Amino acid sequence: MRPIQMVDLVGQYQKIKPEVDAALQRVIDSTAFINGPEVKEFEKELGAYLGAKHVIGCANGTDALQIAMMALDLKPGDEVITASFTFVATVEVVALLGIVPVFADVLPGTFNLDPADIERKITPKTKAIVPVHLFGQTADMEAIMSIAETHGLHVIEDNCQAIGSDYTFRDGSRKKSGTIGHIGTTSFFPSKNLGCYGDGGAIFTNDDALAKKLRRVCNHGSDVRYYHEVVGVNSRLDSMQAAILRIKLRRLDAYGAARNTVAATYDAAFAGIPALRTPERSPNSTHVFHQYTLRVTDGRRDGLKQHLEAHGVPAMIYYPVSCHLQNAYKSARSPEGSLPVTEQLTREVLSLPMSTELDNEQLTHITDTVKSFFN
Ligand SMILES: *Cc1c(COP(=O)(O)O)cnc(C)c1O
Repeated sequence: MRPIQMVDLVGQYQKIKPEVDAALQRVIDSTAFINGPEVKEFEKELGAYLGAKHVIGCANGTDALQIAMMALDLKPGDEVITASFTFVATVEVVALLGIVPVFADVLPGTFNLDPADIERKITPKTKAIVPVHLFGQTADMEAIMSIAETHGLHVIEDNCQAIGSDYTFRDGSRKKSGTIGHIGTTSFFPSKNLGCYGDGGAIFTNDDALAKKLRRVCNHGSDVRYYHEVVGVNSRLDSMQAAILRIKLRRLDAYGAARNTVAATYDAAFAGIPALRTPERSPNSTHVFHQYTLRVTDGRRDGLKQHLEAHGVPAMIYYPVSCHLQNAYKSARSPEGSLPVTEQLTREVLSLPMSTELDNEQLTHITDTVKSFFN
């Protein structure tokens, strides 16, 4: 059996190697390393895939969130409501800009923001909501957009983990995750569903005026070289990464299907184990399984993790400590106990290997090893 990894990037590269190697050589030969034609083509192709009018490449997913908040003119003292059960990036950029992060709890089934708790956290200072589409499915955007409209708030979708997932509205219409709010952001970190071979990120919007502001912020606050309208940053997607992303974008739906096949295999294998909750599918979103995350409800999560690792099966806890309990972000406003679902999830979740390259022998070994722990 091939060794099992959380994410198998080598196996995926082997299958597209000739195309990737040729694309990289093409960029090197052109020496158009920054803002070259590959970046412009990729932005166009990703926009067409997502149904987003504007796609703006940037250096990483964390920058994408920061640039979005700068373009919305969020100011020190403003409040932004987001999840605590997530990767720290969102909270970090909020804090860096002097904005106040306000945490809402998540739903125990989908791990995504609970619209009812968002509503409870709104104050006169609230300016934006940042839903994080965690582990591969879209948060309840119809409910979130309706809250935002009622209270005059902006919505930035952190789509780093769910690129390619489809959200269905009550009237049956569909949109890609990241294109429903005012701005969507994503990361092309290598292990993401659409990952490059280094750092990369992008911002999407359908609003022409916002697109102009986003491009300006990315580019040192400048529209015309050496004339600076606002304080900006330097955040660019480079041409080599864009060339690789063009190749992988064409396979993104096939990659999503491969991930769903793995998830279905796991679901079927674990259905009869009472201590395990397999991931719930949101009624209004498809799942692209950035992570396949179990809840281990009998208190033996850490024991299962050790058992798996002892048998050559890596497993990860995303996330062991939620943002509101991190030393850097503790506040009187969200003391321990204030986000009960989030805190329970940090004690129960365990993510299994998930990639486009897992074969049947590896999958059988993983599911047998999980089952043997509960026998
Ligand atoms: C990966 C990730 C980020 C940050 O992306 P980088 O490219 O690593 O900066 C932000 N938010 C979420 C939810 C992520 O998963």
